Amino acid sequence: MKFEDEIKRRRTFGIISHPDAGKTTLTEKLLLFGGAIQEAGAVKSNKIKKGATSDFMEIERQRGISVATSVLGFEYKDKKINILDTPGHKDFAEDTFRTLTAVDSVIVVVDVAKGVEEQTEKLVEVCRMRNIPMIVFINKLDREGKDGFELLDEIEQKLHLKVTPLSYPIGMGYDFKGIYNIYEQNVNLFTGDPKKDIEDTVEVKDLNTKELDELIGDTAAETLREDLELAEGVYPQFDKEEYLKGELQPVFFGSALHNFGVRELLDCFIDIAPPPQPKEGEEREVKPNEDKFTGFVFKIHANMDPKHRDRLAFVKVVSGKFERNKPYKHVRLSKNLKFSSPSAFFAEKKQIVDEMFPGDIVGLHDTGNFKIGDTLTEGEIINYKGTPSFSPEHFRYINNADPMKSKQLYKGIEQLMDEGVAQLFTLELNNRKIIGTVGALQYEVIQYRLEHEYGAKCSYENINVHKACWIETDNEKSEEFQDFKRVKSKFLAKDKHDQLVFLADSPFSLQMTQQKYPSIKFHFTSEF
Ligand code: GDP
Repeated sequence: MKFEDEIKRRRTFGIISHPDAGKTTLTEKLLLFGGAIQEAGAVKSNKIKKGATSDFMEIERQRGISVATSVLGFEYKDKKINILDTPGHKDFAEDTFRTLTAVDSVIVVVDVAKGVEEQTEKLVEVCRMRNIPMIVFINKLDREGKDGFELLDEIEQKLHLKVTPLSYPIGMGYDFKGIYNIYEQNVNLFTGDPKKDIEDTVEVKDLNTKELDELIGDTAAETLREDLELAEGVYPQFDKEEYLKGELQPVFFGSALHNFGVRELLDCFIDIAPPPQPKEGEEREVKPNEDKFTGFVFKIHANMDPKHRDRLAFVKVVSGKFERNKPYKHVRLSKNLKFSSPSAFFAEKKQIVDEMFPGDIVGLHDTGNFKIGDTLTEGEIINYKGTPSFSPEHFRYINNADPMKSKQLYKGIEQLMDEGVAQLFTLELNNRKIIGTVGALQYEVIQYRLEHEYGAKCSYENINVHKACWIETDNEKSEEFQDFKRVKSKFLAKDKHDQLVFLADSPFSLQMTQQKYPSIKFHFTSEF
């Protein structure tokens, strides 16, 4: 197959949802279509369940599972599909944000009864800011839930999306009869038998024929006609270009558990979802069909075996062809690296590959060379944008609890920060180290991993920080900036890239500081 064709047939996407909406179940059903797995129950949920906080082994076990499900690749109708896993647990939101830098589109799963939930709102907002094309799947139609129009309204309002249904449910819960596929113009009846449900669709080009009444009954047919008429009046016609620009989001209904409506979703997805897209670098935009390989690290995973400290770096191929044993330039370190066993992911299996194309994810063994956001090229200096750090929500001092092991502690902290587990801030005043995280769970993960992987002990101490703001100034020598540095010296720190950060102890003090120093910019992410 030609290089161009390889690019065109790739679809790399993420599924995002609030925990329990059905992400794992949907993923599994998608893999079934690809023939990548044979039976239900094969995909493990990588959820960190409630209560896991106190059980370190449980966290470890679950982290182990999440390595296996980090990338799920499969083939379907000549398309190579890569699903990138995005943890739903809010303590791992930062992980998800970073994974979203490597997807070309997303599917958003919404629970028919619960509607739009908190985590969905946050993740969709990130996708919206980046204009990532999104398809919405409303799940669990076999259960009683909200009315279809009510849900579409809620999605528009809470997620600030412009939606158009491409399928519509006929009944719901106990009365769930099936769905009308607006995209393909056919009816799929729900029998509860997944095999039948996937295959037995009935074409209904004209909704006004008697056939429809015979198929689903007079009342349901009448309701469906009314619903579809209303939908047509209220929602815009589907337009692929608008979808690709992130300006219009098609919506599907179904039940992942019963594998119902999933085939419809998948067939439409491979039809409309974008192939690998160009990526903005600091130096220039890079197109997938360029000859030379470039790629970037969006995720680093530690080895589960504490005896081997090597890690797996996940690289998204942006352009060109990645080849085994070929030397590539690690741009940040300005050195060449060769990889003898790059892995690809097929369903849940990892295997060594010789070449990879744009859109693919390569797993590279790493002994500590990589940080999140690092770029590999054939020599050109490209730094990809779009892997910012956000202000953490929690902050604590980290102290060395075993003075004999300080070297191990600092090495461990450094590596864990490179993996993106948390953020490290070093106070300017006294060099004390502060760990910032999105969720409280990470503190225990860090403590546990420092001890088991690096043989170091740490303790934490509370510190009152409300938010971290990255500081920008046009003139470091200005009197205003010098004054700011002097007056606020207690609250100034450096992040891991040596960028200056202001640790505001309250919303009020942040506001006052911003007012007092109008020429200084306070950013809430590290990339500006
Ligand atoms: P995740 O947290 O988003 O990955 O959600 P899961 O896929 O683990 O699903 C959460 C729960 O919802 C599980 O008990 C599933 O069996 C159930 N579930 C998923 N899809 C459906 C569906 O279509 N109908 C019903 N009734 N339950 C579902």
